[in-house]
Parts: sequence; C-alpha cells; structure tokens
Amino acid sequence: MRSFYVETLGCQMNKADSERVAGLLLAHGWKETQAASDAELILVNGCAVRLKAEKRAVNRASEYVRTYPGAKVALIGCVAEWRGQELLSTLPGLHLMVSPARLNELPDLAQAGGIALGHTMWGAERTEPRRGMGIRAWIPVMRGCDRNCSFCVVPATRGTQVSFPPSFVMERAVDALESGYIELVLLGQRVSAYSYRGISFAALLKQLAVLPGLRRIRFTAPYPSDIGDDLLEVMASTDVVEKRLHLPLQSGSDRVLKLMRREYTITGYLDLVERARALIPGLGLSTDLIVGFPGETEADFGATLAVVRTVGFDTAFTFAYSPRPGTVAASLQDQVPAEVSQERLARLVSAHHEVLAEKRKEEVGAMVKVLVEGPDRKDPRFMMGKTSNGRVVILEGDFASGDEVSARVIGLRGHTLHAAHVRAGGDQSCGS
Ligand code: SF4
Repeated sequence: MRSFYVETLGCQMNKADSERVAGLLLAHGWKETQAASDAELILVNGCAVRLKAEKRAVNRASEYVRTYPGAKVALIGCVAEWRGQELLSTLPGLHLMVSPARLNELPDLAQAGGIALGHTMWGAERTEPRRGMGIRAWIPVMRGCDRNCSFCVVPATRGTQVSFPPSFVMERAVDALESGYIELVLLGQRVSAYSYRGISFAALLKQLAVLPGLRRIRFTAPYPSDIGDDLLEVMASTDVVEKRLHLPLQSGSDRVLKLMRREYTITGYLDLVERARALIPGLGLSTDLIVGFPGETEADFGATLAVVRTVGFDTAFTFAYSPRPGTVAASLQDQVPAEVSQERLARLVSAHHEVLAEKRKEEVGAMVKVLVEGPDRKDPRFMMGKTSNGRVVILEGDFASGDEVSARVIGLRGHTLHAAHVRAGGDQSCGS
C-alpha cells in the first residue's frame, strides 16, 4: 500500500491543513506512517511568515531528500507558494510542491509528482480531515486575508479572504463533536472578518456554541479593529466560549503601526481592551509584538514597552523583525540593525515577564475550574489543562482528558499556575 508521512511546521492553520491532507490521502487509499523512514511520500508542510521559519521548512525538506533517496519528498503550504518555482532549482530532488489553496489536488499529484501553485476558487470539500489526538478539533472557517500589512506574506501565500458557508462550518463542527472532540478552535488568518451573506463572526460563534457535546470553543486570530461589542457580548454571555482574546498589537507606536499598515491606533486598541475587560470579567489577553520594524526609534520602542506595562498581557508572542523580500516593509528606509532588534527584544521579553510575575503571584490561592487536556508534556506525572480564560494549569492527580476539575492555585511553575484539586469536602489532593 502507498504510504505517507506528514510533518507540520508553523501555525494552527498549517496543522489544520495537514489534517486535511492526511484525510485526503487516506481517502485515496494511502496509509499514514508514524516515521518518515517508513514512508514512500514525505510531506513537509512549511511556514513562510518569518525567514527563520522558511529556512527551517526548506532545510527539513532537503534533509529528507538527502536522508531518504528512495522516498518522494513534497514541500507544501505557505512556503511552497512563497518560494515557488525557484525551489525547483535550489532543491532539485523535490517531487511535489503544492500551495495552501490547491491542497485538494494533492492526491492526484502525489504519485507522479508535479507543481500546483497559485490560488483557486474555494469549493466545499467533503472528505473528513484526519484529526489528531486529544480533546481539540481545528475548524477553519475562512481562508486568506484582504488586509495588506506591510510585513506580512499571508495575502500572497493564502490569497484573498473567503468565508466558508455556515452550513459547511457547522457540518465540520458536528462531525468533530460526534467523533468525541469536546473543544473546537475556529481558525482564520483574520477570523474576526468572517462574513457570509450577512452572517458575522459573532453570529457564527453563537450558532456553534449551542452544539451538543461542546465543552469549549475558541478562535484565532482576530484583528483588533474588527472586534465590535457584538462579539464581546457573545463571549461574555456564552459559557462555553473561552474568555480569552488574542489581540495582535505588533507595536505600541502609532507611527510604526502606520508604517506596518495596521488599521488601528493605540488609543483605539486600549479602548478595546478596556471595553472587553469591562464586559468579560477575568478576561485573558494575549498578543503578538514585533520589535525592530524599519524606522522604529528608541522612542517608538519605549511606547511598546509602555503599552505592555499598561495592559499586562497574559501571553506575548514576541519577535525581532526579519525582512521578507517581496514585502513592502523590506524596501522601507531605516532598516534597524539586527543587534539593535535583538537587544530590544530582550528588553521587551524582560518587561513582559516582570508584569506577568506580578499578575501571576496575585492568582496564587484562587480557585479555578480546569478543563483537563492530558498529561503535561514536560512532566507526565502531572496533568495539564486550561481555565476558561486560557490559563495553562498543571495539576497533580489521576484525571482523564475532558474532566472538569475545581482546583486551588497553590504555586507557580515559572509563569504557569500549579493547582491542587479540591474534593467535594474541601480537602486538597496534592501539594507542591
Ligand atoms: S491581518 Fe494578519 S494575516 Fe492579514 S495581512 Fe495583516 S498580519 Fe497578515
């Protein structure tokens, strides 16, 4: 039987795409292997959002070409679309390249090899994805992005924005829940821009939140200025919706936001944070931040530090800017030297950690409700779960995935909450 192995690098959308590819190949009679060494076809689903990620994907593919000369190696996803035909000369052993928009063509090309790049019309695909282990199912609700942030390759790699019909999304969600998944993660590059014949993202979320068997629903990634009170109200009033917002800030300086072509100001962003916190008590907030963007001065960077201290994010994904040839930002004047970006990145991370340490200390002693996901990856003697506002909690005890546990926070592991289960009588089952 023909066999394949798929390795996924990058974001949750890539994970969902890999599940889709695996589902398609299985439906066409292929068998999935757990190791690349056992596969006839090795697929690397790579990310292109940063230079480092792109290099990693290309290196992985060339490593497979060298190590398994008898296998067929494919590079798929954003990196295939971004680097395109050029890879055929730099990586001559490559058997197949497929862009994110054309993954449904993969089974036809898998045996003979070839190239399927560029964007096509979206069509509802009936093949079930091969989902991963655990409690969570990824549910893409749209693809592409119509914004044009000057640093971003997504509009080029994933094409223009297409929202999927609610009936299609609903079908996918019901299938996942009927297969035993209890948490749904709605995915879109700019998920808050979802719009299908008058149905907004808030309305879609509300429809999905009442599905039987659903214990938690979350979404990523929204764009700050898309978020209206309708979405915040659905989050506030619907128990199963995660009380956490990922709000990519990118920079704390209006001048840099303009250079980035982001369509909000710092005042607007802080106002949104305030409204969201007022409507959703205990709201968890996470963000993305880029330092060393072309033209960023020390004063601009200081403004970013100030917003980080003001907001007190629970999680911050921080990056030093790396130019992506072909983007508008790469040709901007005043590129910031790499050593300056790295030094700013270190200061940003340390400011964020300072704020976080203070916040987390205040949570010690509090009662939390934890949805158990499975064994802790770092130390399988413990279980790992999340609160409804997205805090990761390490728990001691014999719980199963999907259990909902009341626990008291008894300490911290770095910035992660360590909690002890509280039994009905009030006694604690573990300590640290
Ligand atoms: S909104 Fe997000 S995905 Fe769209 S261009 Fe901007 S950074 Fe890229």
